[in-house]
Amino acid sequence: MLDRKYIIQNAEAVAENCRRRGVDCDIEKIVSLEEQRLAKLQLTQDLNRQANEVSKKIGPAKDAAERQQWIEKGRELRDQKDAAQREQDELEAQVIELQTVIPNLTHPDAPTGGEEDANELSLGKTPKPRFDFQPLDHLKIGEKHDLFDFESGARVAGAGFYFLRNAAVRIDLALQQFAIQFLADRGFTPVTTPDLALTSVLQGTGFNPRGPETQIYSIENTELNLVATAEIPLGGMMSGQTLDVETLPLRLCGLSHCFRTEAGAAGRASKGLYRVHQFTKVEMFAFAAPDQSDSLHEEMRQLECELFDALEVPYRVIDTASGDLGGPAYRKYDLEAWMPGRGEGGEWGEVTSTSNCTDYQARRLNVRFKRPGQKGTEFVHTLNGTAVATGRAMIAILENQQQADGSINIPNVLRPWVGCDSLKA
Ligand code: AMP
Repeated sequence: MLDRKYIIQNAEAVAENCRRRGVDCDIEKIVSLEEQRLAKLQLTQDLNRQANEVSKKIGPAKDAAERQQWIEKGRELRDQKDAAQREQDELEAQVIELQTVIPNLTHPDAPTGGEEDANELSLGKTPKPRFDFQPLDHLKIGEKHDLFDFESGARVAGAGFYFLRNAAVRIDLALQQFAIQFLADRGFTPVTTPDLALTSVLQGTGFNPRGPETQIYSIENTELNLVATAEIPLGGMMSGQTLDVETLPLRLCGLSHCFRTEAGAAGRASKGLYRVHQFTKVEMFAFAAPDQSDSLHEEMRQLECELFDALEVPYRVIDTASGDLGGPAYRKYDLEAWMPGRGEGGEWGEVTSTSNCTDYQARRLNVRFKRPGQKGTEFVHTLNGTAVATGRAMIAILENQQQADGSINIPNVLRPWVGCDSLKA
């Protein structure tokens, strides 16, 4: 959420930023509602002050009639004050509703436009494979090696759920182990997170648990929701806290299941493991001081590159355009892996995403920090980034590492955990 004073004082710039990000927000209406709210606040305070003055006159009144007169005047003023307060509360709710729809500001270097306007920044170290045979997609590879069971998944929980089997279970666990070890070695504290979070925590991190386009599964008649990403519980971890500046940046890596309804995803390429309702992810998350967040964002992007270089996956790095940033991100980089089995002859598919959310989430979650000797506190900046989402990483590994004889080479760094060098044909 953007600072309200900032919105009012920079209404034109905020409206321009909304246009640049393709978000429909009525900034003029917010400005007008906020003016009305401030007027009501002033009125409430005046009426309260008058009521207090009147109540002081009751004691010294010269007789019962005068006392009664002041009592009635006081009651009248308090009723008026209560009515003004109710109107102010209603206006406040309307302002908040509009305010929460306004997206974060945008990094000046982020490209403007939609998906097709994203900038390709670089390529990974592993080149695209050259096959002298017709490569299979991960579903066909899965059939050969008995790796996935979508039919039973659908029987148990509906379409989009699945069982992993045999080596797929080992690869899934190996990816988690590798990513956690890699990040722990680089100063990230590993944590497992709750798979459920309160509605207030979801809203604080910029996720909307209601509405037709929601990605969120909610538990009926409770304030609990299944998390769509560890970003939600990791952000919520520090809600309402004031951190010591010495502890920043606070680097965490969270392991969680992720649950997504994928509402509105119909028609988007979603074969097999690519777009499912449940997957496992190791997620980087950081709380930082404002002057640290840009460089930490570059660090997270670099770590994602190192991880996917180590996994021997060909990828490209994308600087996401303004219209594709979502609400909280100020800037976002994606890694897209080459997936030889996607589309006709292979396609890039997103495997990671890292965002600098500046103070957008911290303001709603109320996470602050304090500098020594400074009066007051400031909001922290929050950043997140996928280390590895195991399903899509597995697609990239299986499809890029397939050999003419049908065997699959296991990337070097995963071998200790998978327990073999290759899946034999
Ligand atoms: P996001 O939190 O939406 O930025 O997603 C982070 C990563 O999770 C993506 O880059 C994908 O690798 C993976 N991912 C997102 N949605 C799905 C899904 N429905 N099924 C499988 N993997 C997903």
